[in-house]
Amino acid sequence: MNFRAMRRNRQQLTHEECQNILDKSTSGVLSLIGDGGYPYGVPMSYVYHDGKIFFHSATTGHKIDAIGTEEKCSFTIIAQDDIHNEEYTTYFRSVIVFGRIHIIEDEAEKLAALRSLGERYNPNDNAGLQREIDKGFSHLHILRLDIEHISGKESIELIKAKKQ
Ligand SMILES: Cc1cc2nc3c(=O)[nH]c(=O)nc-3n(C[C@H](O)[C@H](O)[C@H](O)COP(=O)(O)OP(=O)(O)OC[C@H]3O[C@@H](n4cnc5c(N)ncnc54)[C@H](O)[C@@H]3O)c2cc1C
Repeated sequence: MNFRAMRRNRQQLTHEECQNILDKSTSGVLSLIGDGGYPYGVPMSYVYHDGKIFFHSATTGHKIDAIGTEEKCSFTIIAQDDIHNEEYTTYFRSVIVFGRIHIIEDEAEKLAALRSLGERYNPNDNAGLQREIDKGFSHLHILRLDIEHISGKESIELIKAKKQ
């Protein structure tokens, strides 16, 4: 698949800048093909680890049904949205990831991903994390988004500010 190029490529973020955003942000919108073919954009926390994106989820629901029907997805993160009223614009920075999403079936891989999710949101509390894992492990799914394409974009104003 040839993912399309950005029209205003001056505004394109580098791969490294995109990775920094993926590392630092805490949530985004996971877009799936939902019920009846309607796009289903669902907000989700995540961790970016080893070049992949991991989510935790209940084992049933709209999102899980959608993933069962179509593995192709995208994930959008808004890293910055500073409204400048007087300019009628926003100084923005965002990333869109395209790829395929799967429920992790392998128990060891699921546990490792769950640990990195836990550590992302509450670092340095192994005992607390272990308690959460013991409580919930069998009642949740971990989803892995295998990334095929990443694009990042920032507003012109942020580019100008970098040059000053
Ligand atoms: C910042 C943020 C982080 C989150 N992190 C996680 C996470 O890490 N893991 C996780 O499982 N969930 C997370 N959620 C909740 C998530 O958005 C979904 O509500 C949840 O995953 C259930 O999805 P579902 O498709 O199974 O819901 P279902 O109840 O099966 O969805 C049925 C219908 O409910 C509506 N609906 C569901 N969720 C939302 C919503 N968030 N807002 C508005 N309408 C909704 C939609 O119309 C949907 O078609 C997060 C939400 C936010 C805002």
